[in-house]
Amino acid sequence: MTTPDSMRRVLVTGAAGYIGSHACMRLIESGCRVVGLDDLSRGHRGATRALESAASRAPGEFEFVEGSIADRTGTVELLTDRRIEVVMHFAAFAYVGESVERPLLYYDNNAGGACRLLQAVEEAGVPRFVFSSTCATYGEPPEDRIPIAEDCPQSPINPYGRSKLMVERMLEDRVEAARTAGTPFAATMLRYFNVAGSDPEGRVGEDHRPETHLIPICLEVAAGRREALVIHGDDYPTPDGTCIRDYVHVVDLVDAHLAVMDAMKDGELRRYNVGLGHGWSVREVLESCRRVTGRDIPATMGPRRPGDPPTLFANASSIGRDLDWSPRFTDLDETVATAWRWMQANPSGYGAD
Ligand code: UDP
Repeated sequence: MTTPDSMRRVLVTGAAGYIGSHACMRLIESGCRVVGLDDLSRGHRGATRALESAASRAPGEFEFVEGSIADRTGTVELLTDRRIEVVMHFAAFAYVGESVERPLLYYDNNAGGACRLLQAVEEAGVPRFVFSSTCATYGEPPEDRIPIAEDCPQSPINPYGRSKLMVERMLEDRVEAARTAGTPFAATMLRYFNVAGSDPEGRVGEDHRPETHLIPICLEVAAGRREALVIHGDDYPTPDGTCIRDYVHVVDLVDAHLAVMDAMKDGELRRYNVGLGHGWSVREVLESCRRVTGRDIPATMGPRRPGDPPTLFANASSIGRDLDWSPRFTDLDETVATAWRWMQANPSGYGAD
C-alpha cells in the first residue's frame, strides 16, 4: 500500500483499548494513516479487526502492530520506518483499586512505559505528542475549586493518578529541553473526566475486564448479566447524596485529540480538561440507564468506595476557547444509548478476543 504524502501519519498507543480504538476510528475517518500499537495485555484483537475493516471503507488507513511501548528500540524503528508525525499515547493501566494494590505495576507501565516511549519519540525526532491524562491528577480538590480548571493544584490520591502526573512532569521537562535546544517538539496533555459511550455506529465499544465503571455496570444489570447495581454510598454532601461526575462521550473526547493535533506549535506545552462542564449524580445516571433501556435496573446501597471524591466536574472553557471544541453529546441519555447499542450487539464484548 502506498500512502500519499499528504496523509497525516499518526501512531496510537493502546489502539486496541477503549479510548485508543475510538481515537483510531476518528483518525481513519478523517483521512489519517494510523499505526495502532498495542501489546494486547488489556486491549482486544477484536477492536483492531474492527478498525481494519473500517479502514477498508474510510479515507484513511490502519495498520495494527502488536508490541509494547516498553520496547524502546522497536518503537524507534516503527516511528522511523512509518515516518510518524504525531504520537497519541493511550496505552496505560487505569484501575484505581488495582493501582493501590499493585503500585509498582502502575509506576512501571504508566510512568516507566511513557518514559521509554518518550525516549523513542525523541530519538526518532517525532515532533508532536498527545498524552491521555486524567482528572485523577487533581485528587480531591477543595469545594471552591469546582468546577475544576487546569490551574487547580494537582495532588493525586492514588498511584494511578500519581503515575499519570509523573508523565505530565516528564512532558513539561521534555518540552522545556526542546525549546532550549531549538528542536521541534510540542506536547499536549488532555485531562479526561469520566469517559462514556461508544462509537455511534457500533463498530468499536467499551469492554473492560473487570468492568468497574458506573454506566457499563448499570447496562450489564439491564442486560441481565449482573443482579444489581451497588451504589457506593448516598451520604455524600450532594443534592441526592450520591457522587457527581462529568460524563464526556468518547467520540467528543477523541475529537479533542484531533483538534489539538493540528493546533500545536513547536515549543508549546498545552493542558486541557476534557469534560462537559457539569455533572450527573450516580442516581441520575441510573435513571438515565433505566429510561434508555426501558428495563428495571435493581440497585442496592453499599458503603462508600475509598477514594471517591463527592463531586468532580470540569471547567472545560480553555479547550472550548482555544480549539473551538464543544461536545456534541450533551444529553446523558444519548451517551448511554450509544453504550447500550454496543452492549446489545456485543453481549460478550469482543468475546474471547
Ligand atoms: N459507582 C457506583 N457503583 C458502581 C460503580 C461506580 O456507585 O458499581 C459510582 C462511583 O462510586 C463513582 C461514580 O459511580 O461515584 C463513577 O464511578 P466510575 O468508576 O464509573 O468512575 P470514576 O469516577 O471512579 O472514575
